[in-house]
Amino acid sequence: MVMERFDVHVRGSGIVGRSLALSLARQGLRVALQDAAPTAPRGEDVRAYALNAASVGLLESLRVWAALPPGAATPVYDMHVMGDAHDATLDFSAYTQRVRELAWIVDAAALEAELGNAVRFAPHVSELPAGTEVQASLLAVAEGKASATREAFGIGFERFDYGQTAIAARLIAAEPHQGRALQWFRSPDVLALLPFDRPQATRSYALVWSLPSARAQELLALETPAFEQALNEACGGAIGLALASERAAWPLSQARADRWCGPGWVLLGDAAHVVHPLAGQGLNLGLADVAALADVIEHREPWRDLGDPKLLRRYVRERAAPTAAMGRVTDGLQRLFALDAPLAREVRNRGMSLVDAATPLKRWLTSRALGQRRA
Ligand SMILES: Cc1cc2nc3c(=O)[nH]c(=O)nc-3n(C[C@H](O)[C@H](O)[C@H](O)COP(=O)(O)OP(=O)(O)OC[C@H]3O[C@@H](n4cnc5c(N)ncnc54)[C@H](O)[C@@H]3O)c2cc1C
Repeated sequence: MVMERFDVHVRGSGIVGRSLALSLARQGLRVALQDAAPTAPRGEDVRAYALNAASVGLLESLRVWAALPPGAATPVYDMHVMGDAHDATLDFSAYTQRVRELAWIVDAAALEAELGNAVRFAPHVSELPAGTEVQASLLAVAEGKASATREAFGIGFERFDYGQTAIAARLIAAEPHQGRALQWFRSPDVLALLPFDRPQATRSYALVWSLPSARAQELLALETPAFEQALNEACGGAIGLALASERAAWPLSQARADRWCGPGWVLLGDAAHVVHPLAGQGLNLGLADVAALADVIEHREPWRDLGDPKLLRRYVRERAAPTAAMGRVTDGLQRLFALDAPLAREVRNRGMSLVDAATPLKRWLTSRALGQRRA
């Protein structure tokens, strides 16, 4: 039997891998998409991702965004950030930043499912079972942070474990969220409530609560009423939050591969870089990788092979600086807010007030978070 030859072999069919497969198939390339063999049944992902305008644009171009079911994506119009002191606050609004919305909060499971449907109907994508041997000009590795292929290639993955765990869950609040995200930045936890329309329209939030791992384990072990009480206390008691899902937990780290490409292979998404979720940017970086690689491939010289390292280095050149910068920002914020010393508290609270008063700086920060290259 003659083995079918593909242009690109995408390993890893998470959101990044599926988006890449669809982007390349739209250029007429033949793509093999392969995931790992499931080891245990996966429960539904309770996370909701904050996606920026660039990520939404990519998903729109893949015709996935418009196909999301009702309630799976909720716009954020305002964001209220609070520090340790009552007067340390920072407010962002779509209106004053002159954008339609600051971000979208998207149901992780619904987005994966919709990308799965699009892949199934894409004319040039073949989903192959784990273990099938594949021949292709380019291997694109999107296997997430524990990528076995990256390890088999002997690529270093410098990793720093924060000793923190993020608890994620769906919540229902007593009052409508009005499209406003709330975030508490303080020592030792960072707590985000992302406005959401599932399970209940206008009153739901997605929770991402990053804490020292020992405290997170204590909270995870609590019965529902005790957890809700601890959560409501952490949010100042005014919102009236009730759990609407299981609680799920993720250990948090920052990591970066020391090489992103070589002859015939390239890394994308969490397989290449992992950042703390406090700024909700990990997937946005991965989708920007997809857009950059697809663009480089589309504009290659007609004679250039897809696996040519010269071509792949163009992708790395474009993505190395923004991913490193985001890594530094999230890591710096994490470290600043992890310090409990009075001086550190003073510095961050003053810093917040100063940023809040500086309109151009806020506009610049918003444009970066939205994935815009120039403000
Ligand atoms: C609590 C939390 C909240 C977050 N919130 C946000 C947010 O608001 N906004 C944001 O932008 N980001 C957020 N992130 C980051 C985001 O989750 C990740 O950056 C994103 O999921 C990475 O996608 P990926 O496709 O690269 O990797 P993954 O989602 O890990 O997918 C990897 C895929 O590869 C497959 N695979 C693994 N090994 C192999 C193998 N050997 N062969 C083939 N396939 C393999 C896996 O089965 C999986 O399907 C958050 C992260 C956490 C932990």
